[in-house]
Amino acid sequence: METMQQWVESLERRARARLGIGRVADYIPALAEQDPDRFGIALCSNQGAIYHAGEAQTPFSIQSIAKVLLLTLALRVQGDALWTRVGRNPSGMPFNSLAQLEAEGGKPRNPFINAGAIAVTDRLVGAFATPSKHLRDVARRLSGNPKIHIDENVQASEWQHRARNAAMAYLMQAFGHLDNDVDTVLQTYFSCCALSMSCVDLARAFNFLAAEGHALSLGERFVSPDLARRINALLFTCGMYDAAGDFAYRTGLPAKSGVGGGIVAIVPGRFSICAWSPALDERGNSVAAQHVLELLADDLGRWSRAIPSDSMTIMNI
Ligand code: GLN
Repeated sequence: METMQQWVESLERRARARLGIGRVADYIPALAEQDPDRFGIALCSNQGAIYHAGEAQTPFSIQSIAKVLLLTLALRVQGDALWTRVGRNPSGMPFNSLAQLEAEGGKPRNPFINAGAIAVTDRLVGAFATPSKHLRDVARRLSGNPKIHIDENVQASEWQHRARNAAMAYLMQAFGHLDNDVDTVLQTYFSCCALSMSCVDLARAFNFLAAEGHALSLGERFVSPDLARRINALLFTCGMYDAAGDFAYRTGLPAKSGVGGGIVAIVPGRFSICAWSPALDERGNSVAAQHVLELLADDLGRWSRAIPSDSMTIMNI
């Protein structure tokens, strides 16, 4: 039986076949400069062991993956009151669509489309003096990496090309669903999306979702087991934009992607994973990162069929 490290290396090798397919996001000019052939994967076990391959320690723009941290913080602060401002159902629409928001009275379908994350950010702007710094510090503590920073170049680029996101924010304001100054909310949202983290950082930071809310790096619970389960449910149904159903079918894993090319996925009770490669498909999900997660899910399925469940420790995780 191969070791976990050998397995992760073999996943990386096999998924490399998909490099060269897809296009880097260019609607944020600072992201268009990325090399589409970069690729990395990291896995963090619930015992804290890290296995990685490829460019797993290279920081990249986490983009929409930040929406999971925004949601987690907002639920910690506001609890269920948050759901008066944002729904919990898949949108079936592109992540930056305006049509549904207008049709549904300014209440975004879920916290992982842009409008939903902007609505969640509005709640945090009301709750913290410097919400983006707070979120950055949470990312630092959860990943155990004090060097994590907000990439000011990416943030400025998003601000400069904010028209669509600004349109969503103003629409929500017009419906009375945004309490704070639009520019402040957008600046905060862009700062969080512009966090720069590596696959290793992200796999560590999101391990609490695999571990019933317990954060290894904090040595304590970050969220309750119920909240971890609920956040995973939202990742499963809404985390991959309008491809969520398709990705769920292919992997069976809760996951969240970002247009920087990263995808975080959770195997509840066992480990968290982050894969990264900047070239995206037409729905904004990384081609190679999706593929490596599909290979991983296939292997896990094969193993659990081959190995009696009481001897899963053979997988060393
Ligand atoms: N910051 C990006 C935006 O608002 C996030 C989009 C994404 O990763 N899907 O457009």
